[in-house]
Amino acid sequence: MLSIDGSYGEGGGQIIRTSLALSLVTGKAFRAERVRANRNKPGLQRQHLTAVLSAAEIGQAEVEGARVGATEFTFIPGEVVQGDYNFSIGTAGSATLVMQAVLPPLMLASKPSVLTIEGGTHNTHAPPFEFLQKTFLPLVNRTGRRISMQLERYGFYPPGGGRINVLIEPTEERKRLDIPERGEIQSTRARALVVKLPSHIAERELAVVEQELGWMDEQLEIETSNNALSPGNVVTIEIESEQVTEIFTGIGQRGVRAEAVAQSAVDEAKNYLASGAPIGEHLADQLLIPLALAGGGSYITGALSLHTKTNIEIIKKFLDVKITTLQLSGSLWKIEIQE
Ligand code: ATP
Repeated sequence: MLSIDGSYGEGGGQIIRTSLALSLVTGKAFRAERVRANRNKPGLQRQHLTAVLSAAEIGQAEVEGARVGATEFTFIPGEVVQGDYNFSIGTAGSATLVMQAVLPPLMLASKPSVLTIEGGTHNTHAPPFEFLQKTFLPLVNRTGRRISMQLERYGFYPPGGGRINVLIEPTEERKRLDIPERGEIQSTRARALVVKLPSHIAERELAVVEQELGWMDEQLEIETSNNALSPGNVVTIEIESEQVTEIFTGIGQRGVRAEAVAQSAVDEAKNYLASGAPIGEHLADQLLIPLALAGGGSYITGALSLHTKTNIEIIKKFLDVKITTLQLSGSLWKIEIQE
């Protein structure tokens, strides 16, 4: 049985999600210890527990010791069964992160699956729905997969209650993916979403984008909606290039001014544009698993995050792959994954 040290590197939930996904893919059992040791509230929280139980359900796994707050548990995978699944976190824990734990085993299967996941759809420190739909999945699909997702309802902190649907169709294809450059920028746009909140919040946010990035009115969009249990606000900055669409997000929070929410997304977008790298920081840690399962690939990214470095080491524990990182210049790194 593999021993997974949850305090390694980033020491957060990603170590657990990667272990669950790759345990189901490889059939290797693992024991996790010191789970999320580097977080304020260590141990499994609802989102992570839902990921463990969801992975156990699709993979008929035996789980020992997993409960809210647990810092140790054992996961013994069985056979992965495709089908229709409904997973609910019960809080605003991130539905998109739960999806990441179950997607790799299901996307390699020979039959389709349909997932409905309920929880938060736009959380701080997690991929927002649009990032998975427009940034992550199109690249995963270029490795030969066929996956699509829709948002049925937004879910924000604190009640959650959002809902995403994911359709995973089987394919025989398996293609490596190399993204050495961004290519020409095709379009840039920003959206400020306000759910059950006044639209002046969105106007103030887009004013920051307009001023800081010099974008025109036709690139700026306000969306108002009531489709959530609670109020929520999201600023999404989208940069579509020939090779990749990158998305930078600011999530509105009580006590944080609208201008600051927009500024955080603007700062990330500016860094991305200045770096010249095609793959942004978040995408860099999330692409590792799909490429490792697709027979390899490579990409150029900005500075390597601790999430990326940590994920590389956890992936290498489960899969017989070679992952190398090479610094090309002060701010550019090449990540290469070889079988
Ligand atoms: P914890 O660390 O508290 O357990 P967690 O379960 O949310 O939290 P992390 O280990 O911090 O997990 O992983 C968060 C994941 O979300 C990483 O893959 C990171 O790249 C991704 N992420 C965070 N913010 C964004 C964002 N704005 N856009 C896209 N992805 C994001």
